[in-house]
Amino acid sequence: MIKNLKKHNINYFPSPNEDNKDLLIILNKTSEILCKWFSDTNQLSPLPLKKVFNVSYPQDNGCDLNSLYDEIHNLIYSSFNPSHPGSLAHLDPPPLSISIIGDLIAAGLNNNLLAEELSPSISILETEICKWFAKRIGFTDASGGIAASGGTLNNLNALVTARYNSGLINDPNAVLILSEDAHVSFKKCARILGINEKNIYFVETNINGSMNFSSFDKLLHQLSKSEKKIFAVVATFGTTNFGALDPINEIENRCKNENIWLHIDASIGGVFLIPNNRNKFLKNLNISNVNSITINPQKILGIAKTSSLLIVSNIDNLKKTFQTGLPYLDSSDDVVNLGELGVQGSRPAEIIKLWLGLKYLGINGIEKILDETLSKKSIFLDKLDKSKFEIFTGPLHIISFLPKNMPPKESDEWTLSTKKVLLENDYMISRPLYKGKYYLRIVFGNFNTTESHITELTNLLNNIK
Ligand SMILES: *Cc1c(COP(=O)(O)O)cnc(C)c1O
Repeated sequence: MIKNLKKHNINYFPSPNEDNKDLLIILNKTSEILCKWFSDTNQLSPLPLKKVFNVSYPQDNGCDLNSLYDEIHNLIYSSFNPSHPGSLAHLDPPPLSISIIGDLIAAGLNNNLLAEELSPSISILETEICKWFAKRIGFTDASGGIAASGGTLNNLNALVTARYNSGLINDPNAVLILSEDAHVSFKKCARILGINEKNIYFVETNINGSMNFSSFDKLLHQLSKSEKKIFAVVATFGTTNFGALDPINEIENRCKNENIWLHIDASIGGVFLIPNNRNKFLKNLNISNVNSITINPQKILGIAKTSSLLIVSNIDNLKKTFQTGLPYLDSSDDVVNLGELGVQGSRPAEIIKLWLGLKYLGINGIEKILDETLSKKSIFLDKLDKSKFEIFTGPLHIISFLPKNMPPKESDEWTLSTKKVLLENDYMISRPLYKGKYYLRIVFGNFNTTESHITELTNLLNNIK
């Protein structure tokens, strides 16, 4: 038995010698503030009206809990509000309720996914949920995966693995191929990997953002006649601006024949692979020859940030790439420490909220969310005045658009002023810069947006000067 060395009169930590009522009070009180914020959503706007948040700094003697509640209240009410029905700007949906609980449990357990002995149950949970995902999307028994704090890190995990396994790790001629609509995170990844900019090849995309396969094919022919060697091809399954899908099957066959690592960035689209009844645009998709795939359930199911998985067709590739041994841990040989499967070391148990979310929704619940998301997009398209707007979109739930027949400078000003007018009316949409021009963009991933909101939004747009 461990003796109680010193009794604090303030409970800084959950205590084995108490009933932990103080902690329960904090949890209850904070939950109340948070739930009140959710209930107040319609009286608030997507962005706080008061733009400045005054930080109160730590003091020598700490503070009492009651003053902390005030600070928590201020912080919450000064935040971006993804639950507002007009929050349609980004891939940041409202949080799925059960995923909030997942983060609470993860914080309470404070386990560490670095090592099996620091997270015995959760390491198993993560490994198994990754396998479940892998099988669901069409990989074999050799597959597996890892969670990381966001899609950028998982794209990095994938590219590090691709380069390591290509044997081109020190080759200055190692080339990365992706489309010009691929996510900016790959530029960061390439810098981290030390890939020279001239060894990154951007394949052109069609008007709706999908990689042009014949240009890709031509590029491979060209490169095969040069001294360059390709260590990875990235295809995007759901582009950030248009929700476009690259022609995966064709790219996949080509990569398989050339023995090139194919990574799919399905940060946005990956979740669409889960349902039993896949959407018709996915009917012929077969990803069994893909090497790795990033999926971000944070972007569409509302799993609280961050929630991202890297699924690989052969888990041994991650092991080979990241295994260093963990000298301060004495684990037996058959134990896989998840800190040796990716770039992150200490890592929170983010898998809990994903697991709870998937369990709670079930396959049918997931399918329902995805269907509703796509039907909101079609309602919007039905109601938008097509004589006024040019629309750019792939099969997923993201639309970009421009006013028709407007000179570029005027169009850029129009998008800026329209975005502002919409925000004044509580609709927050985004204004991405794409190929030198500003577009307006809407993401239909908000579960609180109803048909009447979409009607109001399209009325505003159709009548805006
Ligand atoms: C958001 C996104 C990423 C990056 O994910 P983070 O979680 O923001 O790091 C990568 N690719 C695509 C297509 C994305 O939309």
